[in-house]
Amino acid sequence: KFITLEGGEGVGKSTNLRFITQWLTEQGIPFIQTREPGGTPLAEQLRNLLLEKREEGVDPTAELLMVFAARAQHLQRVILPALAEGKWVICDRFTDATYAYQGGGRELDSNLIAQLEQTVQGDLRPDQVLLLDVDPEIGLQRAASTGEADRFESEQIHFFNKVRAAYLDRAHSDPDRYAVIDASVPLEQVQENLAVALGKIASA
Ligand code: C5P
Repeated sequence: KFITLEGGEGVGKSTNLRFITQWLTEQGIPFIQTREPGGTPLAEQLRNLLLEKREEGVDPTAELLMVFAARAQHLQRVILPALAEGKWVICDRFTDATYAYQGGGRELDSNLIAQLEQTVQGDLRPDQVLLLDVDPEIGLQRAASTGEADRFESEQIHFFNKVRAAYLDRAHSDPDRYAVIDASVPLEQVQENLAVALGKIASA
């Protein structure tokens, strides 16, 4: 199974990733954990470049192509081999983040994203997308309090509202493949909901 975890800033992705991997370990399910942009040395270098150069400004189309360049490498070297071995792949962000950040946030044409998605991935899509959803006002406050938000983005509530809307749009267009998890509720409740979603995937 190919499972991705998605969400905007401050939704608690890291904490909940730990919960997910612990759950899988307890169930005895073989898995790998990886992330995007990144997951291979080349793709991690592209990630670093993207994050480092952000302050000087990265052209949205350049950003889009870098994200997909990283993804092509990651897919061929890490994700597809793990799936072929029968392992679950738990990926921290994937193409939904591209639709949300480069599409929603940076307002690139989603048809262009869809073309690149088809070119790079063929028919491969995540079996299940776990979308942690919270109002960006709350998320950014949280992220700032843990030192996670970069100051560049914490000024951009508007940007993150667009990111969130794009994520939710995708989730609503394909409810079977997306589990929208309300991340504004207490953590224990978020994790109960995650466990339910994971249980459904495991028994499907
Ligand atoms: O997942 P994580 O929060 O570690 O991602 C690091 C940064 O990369 C985020 O701040 C996000 O804004 C950015 N990103 C992006 N476009 C993507 C994926 C991530 O701008 N497709």
